[in-house]
Amino acid sequence: MEKFENRVYLASPTMHGEEQMYIKEAFDTNWVAPLGKNVNEFEKETAKYVGCKDAAALVSGTSAIHLAVKLAGVERGDIVFCSDLTFAATVNPVLYEGGIPVFIDSEKETWNMNPKALNAAFEKYNGKELPKPKAVIVVNLYGTPAKLDEIKHICDKNGVTLIEDAAESLGAKINDKQTGTYGKYNILSFNGNKIITTSGGGMLLSDDEEAIKKARFWATQSREDFPWYEHKEIGYNYRLSNITAGIGRGQLLHLDEHISLKKAIYERYKEGLADLPVVMNPYMENSEPNFWLSCFLIEEGCKTTPDMIREKLAEYNVESRPIWKPMHMQPIFKEDDFITNGDCVDEAIFARGLCLPSDIKMTPEQQDIVMEMMKSCF
Ligand SMILES: *Cc1c(COP(=O)(O)O)cnc(C)c1O
Repeated sequence: MEKFENRVYLASPTMHGEEQMYIKEAFDTNWVAPLGKNVNEFEKETAKYVGCKDAAALVSGTSAIHLAVKLAGVERGDIVFCSDLTFAATVNPVLYEGGIPVFIDSEKETWNMNPKALNAAFEKYNGKELPKPKAVIVVNLYGTPAKLDEIKHICDKNGVTLIEDAAESLGAKINDKQTGTYGKYNILSFNGNKIITTSGGGMLLSDDEEAIKKARFWATQSREDFPWYEHKEIGYNYRLSNITAGIGRGQLLHLDEHISLKKAIYERYKEGLADLPVVMNPYMENSEPNFWLSCFLIEEGCKTTPDMIREKLAEYNVESRPIWKPMHMQPIFKEDDFITNGDCVDEAIFARGLCLPSDIKMTPEQQDIVMEMMKSCF
């Protein structure tokens, strides 16, 4: 096999042309800044697609999580339950506000927050010896919905705010309900490698229109309604620009197409790798992931390691990546609590899993070659 001339990526931006039309309109009307029609329309169009009443377009998914954490009222010393198997950006905003994360292990069926472990966490942090949490942040890993109905039910029962980090799962559904609608506050990311991108950006969504108004206020330096600059609260410079929002409007037109291409990639891996001792990242039968990243887990006891495959692919100019290293294993969070329901599922997924190239510009022929490379490692 020959090395690919052009690198095959995990996930890279795929542009279609309409993006430039919206950018051009912003230039032609000189609405380059501040805010403007693209921002307003991008918020409306995304909120409508997802099924939330309102949305605030922001510079990143991380800033959206930060404002969600503030809206949930997290203050210094407050506990926040967080998915353990995720990107650090899920958790860092808790620390921005002085909160203390407690990490919740995953279940095998979706690789997401285990409702049983979440229940155990609520039993431990019950407001007696240990304080109750202020919020729960749940992630839909790699575009696969968590058991969101159960998780929402547990949060409601305990009277705790649910924040859904849907950064990776835009367009994924349970039955016909989209992810990004289960939390009181929900966030999306439009970072370069996500299912659609604005080059960089994010969004906060909620049915609480007052909360979104407040988020927009914080995101524009908390400027009070005075002729001069009057400030009563800490502010941030978190709004998305009218140019990048134009990219988002163009991308949104192609979201469903991106999802079906991602799904085809997942299906081809599933079929093509069926003879290997591996399983693809699983999902619930009643759910429809957006298949952002195809991943697999090597069966226990197999001599082949994810690193062997990753290095092999790298030789041929193909990108792959280890699964997110669990937060409870990260040096920065080593003092923080971790709740599991028996065996530590996240450590096993991290040890034996790998994210496979899932770029929608990868052709079926290229994918076949990639799979041949993988097979040669077993
Ligand atoms: C990408 C990502 C984020 C952060 O989004 P940015 O737009 O990069 O700030 C947060 N959480 C998860 C799970 C992500 O994958």
